[in-house]
Amino acid sequence: MSKTFENKVAIVTGGGSGIGLEAARRFVTEGGSVLIVGRDAEKLSRAQNEIDASGAKVATLAADVSDVATGKRAVDLATERFGGVDVLFNNAGIFKPTSFLDHTEEDFDSYLGTILKGKYFMAQAAATAMQQRGGGAIIQTGSMWAERAVTATPSSAYSAANAGVHAMVRNLAVELAPSKIRVNAVAPAVVETPVYGTFMSEDQVKEVLPTFNDFHPLGRNGQPRDVVSALMFLASDEADWITGAVLPVDGGVMASR
Ligand code: NAD
Repeated sequence: MSKTFENKVAIVTGGGSGIGLEAARRFVTEGGSVLIVGRDAEKLSRAQNEIDASGAKVATLAADVSDVATGKRAVDLATERFGGVDVLFNNAGIFKPTSFLDHTEEDFDSYLGTILKGKYFMAQAAATAMQQRGGGAIIQTGSMWAERAVTATPSSAYSAANAGVHAMVRNLAVELAPSKIRVNAVAPAVVETPVYGTFMSEDQVKEVLPTFNDFHPLGRNGQPRDVVSALMFLASDEADWITGAVLPVDGGVMASR
C-alpha cells in the first residue's frame, strides 16, 4: 500500500524541535522527504539524525526565517536535494509572555519578523515553486492567542503577529486557489514543547505547565502529535477541498471562551 506522502517533498520551518520536529518525523514516516529549517545548526543536525540518520530523506538549512532571502534558499535547496516542493509547514515561532507596557520595540520587531514576515515570505517562495509543480499545500501554525486574550499569558505582540498569520491564510487561499495551492492553518492552545523552556527554568516548566491542563475543556494540555495529526490531514489529498481554514486544535478552548 502506498504511503500518504510517497514521493512528496515538504519544507518544515522550526523543524528542529517541538511541533515542527514531530511534523518532519511524521512526514518522513508517511513516505516523504523533508527540508527542516531553523536557526540552530546543531539542533537541526540532531533532528536529522533522529529522523533519518542516513540523511537520504532529511536535509537541513540553518537560517533565520525573518530574513527574506531564507525562503528562496530553502526552496532552492529542497529542489536540488529532492526535486521540488509540495508542502510547506510554515511553523517557526517564538513566545514569551510579556505585559503590553513592558514590550520594547525590539520585542515587537522580533515577533513580527519571525512570525508574520517569516511566514509571509516563506509562503511566497514556496508558492512560486508549487505553481511550477501544478499545486501544493501550505499549512501554517497560527495560535489560539491570536483569537483570545489569556490573562495568565499576556502576549499582545505575539498575538498581533499571529492574527496577521490567520488573515494571511484567507487571502493567500483565495489568490492561490487557481494555482491549486491550498492554504490553511492550525490554531493550537497550550502544547507541551521546548518553547516553554525558552523563558522558564526546567523546574518552573514542571510546576507551571500542569496548571494549564484544566484551561482546556478536554482536561489536558496538547502534545506535538495532537497538532501534527491535523497538519498531516490538511497537507494530504484527503483535505483536497479545504482551503482558507484556521482550525482550532486546542482541546476545546475556543468553544468555551
Ligand atoms: P519550539 O520552540 O519547540 O519550536 C519553534 C522552532 O522555531 C524552534 O526550533 C526555533 O528554533 C525555531 N525558530 C524560532 N525563531 C526562528 C527564526 N527566526 N528562524 C528560524 N527558526 C526559528 O516551539 P513549538 O511550540 O513547537 O512552536 C511551533 C509553532 O507553534 C510556533 O509558531 C508557535 O508560535 C506555535 N504555537 C505553539 C503553542 C504551544 O503552546 N507550544 C501554542 C500555539 C502556537
